Amino acid sequence: MIQQNTRILIVEDEPKVASFLKRGLEENDYSCEIAFDGLMGRKMFDTGGYDLIILDINLPYKNGIELCKEIRHNNQKIPVVMLTALGTTEDKLLGFDSGADDYLLKPFEFRELLARIRSLLKRISIAETGENIITFLDLEVNLNTYEVKRGGEKIVLTQKEFALLVFLLRNKGRALSRNEIAENVWGINFDTGTNIIDVYVNFLRKKIDKCYPKKLIHTQTGIGYILKEEKE
Ligand code: CA
Repeated sequence: MIQQNTRILIVEDEPKVASFLKRGLEENDYSCEIAFDGLMGRKMFDTGGYDLIILDINLPYKNGIELCKEIRHNNQKIPVVMLTALGTTEDKLLGFDSGADDYLLKPFEFRELLARIRSLLKRISIAETGENIITFLDLEVNLNTYEVKRGGEKIVLTQKEFALLVFLLRNKGRALSRNEIAENVWGINFDTGTNIIDVYVNFLRKKIDKCYPKKLIHTQTGIGYILKEEKE
């Protein structure tokens, strides 16, 4: 069982929420520790050994966005789930931009959190044991080091841009709907009407395609997006 040695750090200042999370996760065989503010969260993260972090945004001394950025600076791989009452698309974008892998709104259902945690931990173990490098034409993506290159030149992507690129690559030649992308990359169904997918595809295009004559990411009218070789 993966869970048995899985250690989760909960950074949450509301004692009731923190102990509810700890109890629920421990019932599911995860081992949990709680930090009640951002500074404590940072200190505990620095001691190492955690497999996943559950992070509140409004925290004393250091907020979750700031802490998430610091965590990402030190560790690109550890999954971070943000738990928050802030739920506008902009809040979500801010959370994802700081490096969160998933975003759950309070109040949430525990089993939903559990499902997200399992899926994030599974993704990590696939990335670690599966094929390490995906290539497509002159694009090269290393799943272990998160290094992305095009034509040998290094490209720096944020966490979500990277996840989006990997999903497009794994489905190359197939048109993907925005819903399919949202479910697989963000693990969420965004409210209809949000343009978060388009925003991120544009971020990615700027880095992956803009400076290169051959475009890889294409808009599929009426569906969504497709990664494919451009025909001359
Ligand atoms: Ca809080």
